[in-house]
Amino acid sequence: MVDCCSAPGLLPFEQAMEKMLSAIKPINETETISLALGLNRVLARNISSPLNVPPHHNSAMDGYAFKLASLQTTDKLTLIGRSMAGAPFQGECKIGECIRIMTGAKLPSCCDTVEMQENCQANDTKITFLEAREFNDNIRFTGEDIAINQAVFSQGKKLSAIDIGVLASLGVPTVEVYRKITVAVLATGDELKSPGETLNDGDIYESNSHALIAMLTKLNVTVINFGIIADDEQAIRAAFEQADQQADVVISSGGVSVGDADYTKLILEQLGEIGFWKIAMKPGKPFAFGKLPNSYFFGLPGNPVSALVTAHQLAVPALLKLQHAQAKKLPLLKVKTATQLNKRAGRMDFQRAVLSTNQQGEMMVTSTGSQGSGILTSMSTANCYIVLPASQGNVPANEIVNVQLFDDVIQ
Ligand code: AMP
Ligand code: MG
Repeated sequence: MVDCCSAPGLLPFEQAMEKMLSAIKPINETETISLALGLNRVLARNISSPLNVPPHHNSAMDGYAFKLASLQTTDKLTLIGRSMAGAPFQGECKIGECIRIMTGAKLPSCCDTVEMQENCQANDTKITFLEAREFNDNIRFTGEDIAINQAVFSQGKKLSAIDIGVLASLGVPTVEVYRKITVAVLATGDELKSPGETLNDGDIYESNSHALIAMLTKLNVTVINFGIIADDEQAIRAAFEQADQQADVVISSGGVSVGDADYTKLILEQLGEIGFWKIAMKPGKPFAFGKLPNSYFFGLPGNPVSALVTAHQLAVPALLKLQHAQAKKLPLLKVKTATQLNKRAGRMDFQRAVLSTNQQGEMMVTSTGSQGSGILTSMSTANCYIVLPASQGNVPANEIVNVQLFDDVIQ
């Protein structure tokens, strides 16, 4: 094992993350929107329940409601009324009587138990109860889901589909959320063409911005797509300046290494400031985080796998922080690797792999094969990263490794 200092000049991944997150100040502006538009928005206020859910005791079954004491001396009760969902029974019922009741209908205050209709025989107004019941059977209680004044969600909660349902069940028509952030995306490279265009000799199709915009869509940000920018200092500077005026965050890909056509660093230095440049991670060594006059800047490497892994591992947590969102962490798993993993000590690896179960039902993880940073299919077939610390060298088969599941942002 060689220690991480074998990668001189590279910033350890954890330090890069910490530096970057501490530089990000979450946005403060909020807006009140209809609940229907709340998916993936971030709550700006704590929410406690204004009412009990459900607001009244109600029946969990279609059947008959009664006082359990009625069945101590007889198995036959007299039907005297009904309670439907939305149309409660209004009268009184006494010992020896029962009420026809439907699922969700309010339990009459004079009843304490419900029997489902399958266990009853109805003969006009005489109902025979075929089975013994216990007190409070088949009743859903007032506030059993959410009690009045109970804390339900806290500020920073990113609303999921289920959360929208919970808020609707509280009768909440609108929510106060942080405003959406705007992210400008641009891809630099003379060789890049958009899908649909004809490739000239030496060209390739541009994929980074497409995958990135799809990821950003999952984060519910407003995207401004600047498209492909030529490897030209003036053109890149003009694009960065324009993007900086329009967006909270500018994300570019390509041109961050030290090649002859790599202008990103130079322009970022001229217009703003660079936070850090080279990170001890693989894929993705050249990654820039910095500030433009009005926005944060992320410079992703050009290689498609490097671009996506750095976007996912570094830019996404930064964007979540900017959005005020509490990041939802999936658990790290410790799993046996099915194959040997090749690794050189010095950088933290995010190897793409498939987590599965073998015939005995035990979890195992299998590398997707070649880990080249241009092999995007290594990522599309994967469902997880094997995360190997910087100091780690080759890993023999059957060793336990750390596995990080892909979250929904990149799937
Ligand atoms: P660069 O960082 O600009 O030197 O690019 C590194 C590699 O990634 C080169 O092979 C580029 O052709 C490729 N590349 C750069 N940008 C993109 C992009 N947006 N989509 C696909 N490949 C790219
Ligand atoms: Mg380039």
